[in-house]
Amino acid sequence: MCGIVGYIGTKKAKPILINGLLRLEYRGYDSAGIATMEKDGIKIVKEKGRIANLDAKEEINSLEGTIGIGHTRWATHGKPSAVNSHPHYDNSKTFAVVHNGIIENYHELRKFLEDNGYHFLSDTDTEVIPNLIHYYYKKEHDFLKSVKLACDDLKGSFALEILCNDYPDNMIVVRQDSPLVIGKGLNEIYISSDIPAILSFTKDFYFLNDREYAVLSRKNIEFYDNNLNSIDKMVKSIEWNTASAEKDGYEDFMLKEIYEQPNSIRETIGSKLSENKISFTDFEISKDYLETINRIYIVACGTAKNAGLATKATFENFCKIPTEVDIASEFRYRDPLINEHTLCIYISQSGETADTIAALKLAKQKGAKTIAVANVIGSSITRESDYCVYTHAGPEIAVASTKAYTSQVVLLNILALYFAEVLERVPALEIDNIKKEIMDLPKKAEITLGNVAEIKNFANTVYKETDIFFLGRGIDSYVAEEASLKLKEISYIHSESYPAGELKHGPIALIENDVTVIGIITNPKLVEKTVSNIQEVITRGAKTLVITNQKINDEQFYKTIHIPEVNPCLSPILSIIPLQLLAYYISKEKGLDVDKPRNLAKSVTVE
Ligand code: GLU
Repeated sequence: MCGIVGYIGTKKAKPILINGLLRLEYRGYDSAGIATMEKDGIKIVKEKGRIANLDAKEEINSLEGTIGIGHTRWATHGKPSAVNSHPHYDNSKTFAVVHNGIIENYHELRKFLEDNGYHFLSDTDTEVIPNLIHYYYKKEHDFLKSVKLACDDLKGSFALEILCNDYPDNMIVVRQDSPLVIGKGLNEIYISSDIPAILSFTKDFYFLNDREYAVLSRKNIEFYDNNLNSIDKMVKSIEWNTASAEKDGYEDFMLKEIYEQPNSIRETIGSKLSENKISFTDFEISKDYLETINRIYIVACGTAKNAGLATKATFENFCKIPTEVDIASEFRYRDPLINEHTLCIYISQSGETADTIAALKLAKQKGAKTIAVANVIGSSITRESDYCVYTHAGPEIAVASTKAYTSQVVLLNILALYFAEVLERVPALEIDNIKKEIMDLPKKAEITLGNVAEIKNFANTVYKETDIFFLGRGIDSYVAEEASLKLKEISYIHSESYPAGELKHGPIALIENDVTVIGIITNPKLVEKTVSNIQEVITRGAKTLVITNQKINDEQFYKTIHIPEVNPCLSPILSIIPLQLLAYYISKEKGLDVDKPRNLAKSVTVE
């Protein structure tokens, strides 16, 4: 979580750091701070709350330095407060550090440092880092060596930016399991937790692997491995345009991203499926290998896990391989049955989700091949996996994922069909038909977005509710799960989703007069069954909204939203859209901050 930015160049660092932090605010927003290198040494200004509070501080205007670091915090250790916010000095104020991640052995390190005369001002795990660097610096008198020795003692995850008074023209950055990118401009360097925050300054990026160090000066970057041997790094140019990281006239990023879906789906399809042919750059899988696979695991967290669930049936029906979808934080600790006959697919929009990366490393250790499905180019997961496929959805800024979800579902369907073509276990015509339907999705997504007024009105009637239920059967139950998650995330309304047939086994006890129940009905084979379940809740007084692409008698429902018909395995891509909008409008009605919901952050880089 949290966002870090850095600048080293010839311009005043403060406005650049604040600008970068504002763009990163979706990653954490309980407190923020910056440090710049001034003529008389490092100066830190920090404050509890949003970046605006920090920027409003009188003393921040006195910062003139052209080298600086910044942090927007998502607290893990120590409550949000000015003193716990970053940057943190060491006791002698020689070093200033910002940190994204968790230092798991900070108790032990704090005790060690206290025994050596250090004292602590904050409750954070982070404050051990500058002090540990100082501890080694007293012996080594070398910035890089001291940082390296300190990092050797750290257990856990970290992306660090470090300033040192004795090296006023340098900054050192290093990472382990937390994200950090380095953008190179002309005689200036930008550092950030992710690409969009600094995309308006540069399109050329360097990516650090775990425990690689970069020593930055205005004109130069030196890279070192963990033994401090100098290494070369290739610069990577990023094709995203700046506008895609701006609101572009929309009130919120989330609304903009919902509306971008026809285009993001088109981009996802674009590079992989054309004229009915599926191909992946840098990725080919042989029939011999696929025939050895007897189980597929799709592993992810949150919305990405729901995208996995939505595509399980495509893998099973077209590849005839049993496919399980698992939550990364569970998978990594439950000793799953994995061997070289298992294929593991990992989904993460940011490519930095800590649990998903750990789950991927586990499968590799056990001999399975791994495929990453990510949106952010060059992110950690894409470097850890054997193969990588990109969704190409463009930057997603709102904390609640929308366009990344639909792109993940599209891409996983294409991937499953690609395997199916290689395996030849189902007639080619069946695969071809779905491929044609995929090509029509952008147009159908546009049509689906046409019903906004209806959704807005419905949102208006239910935004004061305390509980909302989502029901669906088969693939629709997975859309129900995603819709329920979206609603919880941004409206703070308690909601639950159930496979409609499960209702009678307990949850129906919760249905009483005027409770809102939302049904999703897209599978022709299951229409009657689901309609019956919805009837059961209507009988008990529920107010119902139904999202459907089937011809059903909709007089029985309070409200019905019709969406275009599509093959059942692709239906989540369309049926989720009205429900994303519903969550959005409910949140707006309640006057909440849609893009930055409480307690959440965009990329979950801690366990
Ligand atoms: N663990 C650190 C803290 O709580 C950093 C958290 C973050 O990544 O924002 O201060």
